[in-house]
Amino acid sequence: MAVSKMLQFVTVDRKTPEKREADARRHDFDEIYREFAAERAAEQAGRCSQCGVPYCQTHCPLHNNIPDWLRLVAEGRLQEAYEISQATNTFPEICGRICPQDRLCEGNCVIEQSGHGTVTIGAVEKYITDTAFEMGWVPSIKPRTERKESVGIIGGGPGGLAAADVLRRAGVQVTVYDRHDRAGGLMMYGIPGFKLEKDVVQRRNDQLAEGGVKFVLNTAVGRDITFDAIREKHDAVIIATGVYKSRELGGDNHDAQGIVRAIDYLTASNRKSFGDDVPEFDSGELSAEGKRVVVIGGGDTAMDCVRTAIRQGARSVKCLYRRDRANMPGSQREVANAEEEGVDFVWLTAPTGFEAGAGDAMAGGVAVDMKGIELEGEDVATMHRIVSGVTVQRMRLGEADATGRQAPELIEDADYVEDADLVIKALGFEPEDLPTLWDHPELEVTRWGTVRADFRTHATPLDGIYAVGDIVRGASLVVWAIRDGREAADAILAKFSASVVPEIAAE
Ligand code: FAD
Ligand code: SF4
Ligand code: SF4
Repeated sequence: MAVSKMLQFVTVDRKTPEKREADARRHDFDEIYREFAAERAAEQAGRCSQCGVPYCQTHCPLHNNIPDWLRLVAEGRLQEAYEISQATNTFPEICGRICPQDRLCEGNCVIEQSGHGTVTIGAVEKYITDTAFEMGWVPSIKPRTERKESVGIIGGGPGGLAAADVLRRAGVQVTVYDRHDRAGGLMMYGIPGFKLEKDVVQRRNDQLAEGGVKFVLNTAVGRDITFDAIREKHDAVIIATGVYKSRELGGDNHDAQGIVRAIDYLTASNRKSFGDDVPEFDSGELSAEGKRVVVIGGGDTAMDCVRTAIRQGARSVKCLYRRDRANMPGSQREVANAEEEGVDFVWLTAPTGFEAGAGDAMAGGVAVDMKGIELEGEDVATMHRIVSGVTVQRMRLGEADATGRQAPELIEDADYVEDADLVIKALGFEPEDLPTLWDHPELEVTRWGTVRADFRTHATPLDGIYAVGDIVRGASLVVWAIRDGREAADAILAKFSASVVPEIAAE
């Protein structure tokens, strides 16, 4: 009888792929984790205990068939592992890189609960599909037969692209509209390369384009084309526009130069990595080089900003967060990575405003903006203030609220100023007001401004209009957007098929 390669968790320790040294990774935007070697992937996959009720799978938003692909990897049957992995996940190599596994699959792995350290599910998932691409096992998505129906998808992030993939494979004519010059959404322009290298995203864009998905880029719906025009062109429309309205901070000098939004900062950095012409970066406005950088926020966006600033050569990088380490929303793995790279976390601190002065902008008695352009009139009064610090209140954690989370409380008379030349606000995102922006008041939104849609079919109350991803959920995760996109595509296909039947019957 063949010896089982599974259940090795008692004798084999958990090992993640090798992490590059902090000193090396501080200077580039390459991913920080290396790929598993084949033997190591098989060894780590073999730690799985093949649970009858796999909680890892239950807690994966895509319900990936994790135990099966782990067993196939352990047995060296990689191509079969790939087939099973891609059956439930449109972008397994992306989820394997950036899902917060500690909160999803791995956090619920049974052997983790029994103190043996979770199976490294994400790293194995990434390894399977990276290998499949390398080996040429990933086929074209070009359909064998074409259908006449067409679907317009507004937004080329993971939600929109996952839907495009399912629909195109079924032969539907798919057009993706995006206001950016590259598809990928936040996977392309939000998440930095050290978490997700951009050729990994572009490889998927290319696969979709090669399979016949049409991309209409540099086209903002509501500005360059109306929502009604898109509705008229297509049999169904999916709204997958994400959430981009940054939460703001008030207080003294909140509009001074040098206080920037995280999304603008990260987009500029990602564009620069592509070698694009980015005037706001080249002028110094969105660059951290040589600066004392303060990032405000404790989520994953804040972590991405601090680590980007380190790579841009900041003089110092501090992260201010009003709760403590244990109560921050960002992933502990990313905090640890940031600390290794030289980021200083200042817990229990809340900004109340900003210090600003004329700084270099008044050199020579002439007021200039950050691009060096001379300012006149009112602009001089309002624009030449350049941030020099953040006024900060110290906090402590009070009683836990109904959710069990301790609310931060102010410590009286403990204010101080944190010096800064660049302040990055990373306080989260809200939906833009689509009904107004698109001049389409009939589009129903919730009281949070997210688009109202059925949670299973993703159909909105408007006939033929679907909505997926962050614009429905609020700021969420790539893996949830993928799930929504796939489900909406399935619902649309079911509707198309249902409407074809009477047509044939009538003939
Ligand atoms: P998006 O990815 O936002 O894509 C929306 C697309 O719609 C964009 O391309 C946009 O240009 C386009 N668009 C918007 N409006 C219009 C319009 N009017 N006309 C045409 N096009 C339009 N999630 C994780 O799982 N792991 C992570 O590590 C992670 N890190 C993150 C880091 C940052 C900095 C941020 C901001 C988010 C991060 N997320 C992460 C969250 C994740 O990126 C999002 O949940 C996910 O991308 C949402 O997918 P989506 O398709 O709904 O929208
Ligand atoms: Fe885990 Fe995400 Fe992969 Fe699901 S998609 S198995 S949650 S890494
Ligand atoms: Fe394997 Fe852990 Fe999933 Fe159980 S919970 S099947 S041990 S990965």
